[in-house]
Amino acid sequence: MSYQVLARKWRPKSFDTLIGQESAVQAIANALDQNRLHHAYLFNGTRGIGKTTIARILAKSLNCEKGISSKPCLTCSTCQEIDVGRYVDLIELDAASNTGVDNMIDLLENAQYAPSSGRFKVYIIDEVHMLSKSAFNAMLKTLEEPPEHVKFILATTEPQKVPITVLSRCLQFNLKQMTSENIANHLSGILTEEKIASDDSAIRIIAKAANGSMRDALSILDQAIAYSSEKISAEKVTQMLGTIEDGILFDIIRHLIDKNGRGLTEIARGMDEKNTSFDDALNGLAKLIHELTVCKIIPGQYDDSSKKALYNEFSEKLTGETLQLFYQISINGRKDLHLAPDPATGFSMTLLRMLAFYPSSTSTHDKVDHSPKPAIKIPEKKSLIPDATEKNIAAKAMLSNTPDQDPVKANQTVSRNFDGNWSLLVSQLKTGVAKTLAQECQFLSYKDSTFHLSLDEKKTYLSKNDFIQKLEEQLINHFNKKLKLEITIDSVSTSPAIEKRTEKAALLKHAESAIMQDNFVKELISDFDAEIVPSSIEPIKKEK
Ligand SMILES: [Zn+2]
Repeated sequence: MSYQVLARKWRPKSFDTLIGQESAVQAIANALDQNRLHHAYLFNGTRGIGKTTIARILAKSLNCEKGISSKPCLTCSTCQEIDVGRYVDLIELDAASNTGVDNMIDLLENAQYAPSSGRFKVYIIDEVHMLSKSAFNAMLKTLEEPPEHVKFILATTEPQKVPITVLSRCLQFNLKQMTSENIANHLSGILTEEKIASDDSAIRIIAKAANGSMRDALSILDQAIAYSSEKISAEKVTQMLGTIEDGILFDIIRHLIDKNGRGLTEIARGMDEKNTSFDDALNGLAKLIHELTVCKIIPGQYDDSSKKALYNEFSEKLTGETLQLFYQISINGRKDLHLAPDPATGFSMTLLRMLAFYPSSTSTHDKVDHSPKPAIKIPEKKSLIPDATEKNIAAKAMLSNTPDQDPVKANQTVSRNFDGNWSLLVSQLKTGVAKTLAQECQFLSYKDSTFHLSLDEKKTYLSKNDFIQKLEEQLINHFNKKLKLEITIDSVSTSPAIEKRTEKAALLKHAESAIMQDNFVKELISDFDAEIVPSSIEPIKKEK
């Protein structure tokens, strides 16, 4: 006997054996058993979840020689003919390949005649949203006044593309996507019946790869059976699918935590040899990072899982920020994979990027200046506020990621005194809401270890208790002594933010006049009719 594909061999023949669509099946069964028949049904849901399977079982239920019921006998000639696809009164049309109005008119002309042998003429139209507008119109006429002996069963993956006039005449069922657990259980059952040995992990990989489609799961299983000489193993399946094993993803996270660059490149090389799909691997990695993040935020989320210990360990060792960073790098890496010299290089580079940006106590950050520079160098005016330029703040923010160089922490052992320079102090704070608040505050006085500040009425959104508390904490850390903070809402004549804006404006004005007086620019304007776009001028700041 020739090999019959599993999807066909194991296609459920009755509602009892159908998996994963309990609520829809229950509703259909009740209607059938109470003889409340509708003349048109619409099943929608993603591919491979059993839409046409349910349609065929429904056709049997309606035409079984033993009577209309949710449990067709499966033994009468009608049931058997429907199962093998030879029943004259069941007409199946794939709208994807028969979109035209002619097919529909042929079909519907036929509908006028009584069924040849059954109770009903059943029309199953798959992918019904693919029909042309005129085909829908032709169908609508029959749907509006259907002959007693006609039943329509429509199936679609895109119900939003079906005209509302058609939708409104159908009894609709939304079929659910299969869970990978449902799929795995079904596959295990089939393999037991077929007497084929398999690893549980292999089944889980197939179920996951099927992405909610039972039909896909069964065809992957077909392939896996053909691919494996004896037992279906996780290794064989991952090789076949080019998917990545969870174990390798865990190794990647472990190497990142251990800052093991060699380990990471070896993993990438090994995956290349096994023809792993790098796109799939980055996708899997992003999913894992998401799960670790969830685990961090909601401890106990994966308590029942076999991965519990590992998840807890990883989420303890990685900060929330690092997980966010890894997630971003993995999805960007996936997006850029096609731009890489080859996928293996792209993948390897993505892992190394995670390593490079992994906040580390030993790593040094290269300062890279990305700001576009005007072609003409402008002599810089002396900064109005020492230490408060954007570059310096940015540099400090970078330094604050490296604890051993952190200027704040380095001085923690000795308490310091406030020298009256509020702007300088603010520039040394860590970036965040506390700093934003501090930047908008005018310094009034510092007495008895209390900072008196005022905040403009328009900025009261910054005067939230937790922001103030955060700022107080930062000041306490900075000076390493008990301090208090009092903020009054009042008019503000100067603040670090105002100073910065003034300085920026002054620099820009200086740059503009320097550009205008530059001989080369003057020549460009006079000889080439050039124009200067003022908004394109940016002052250059010197690194200190
Ligand atoms: Zn029957």
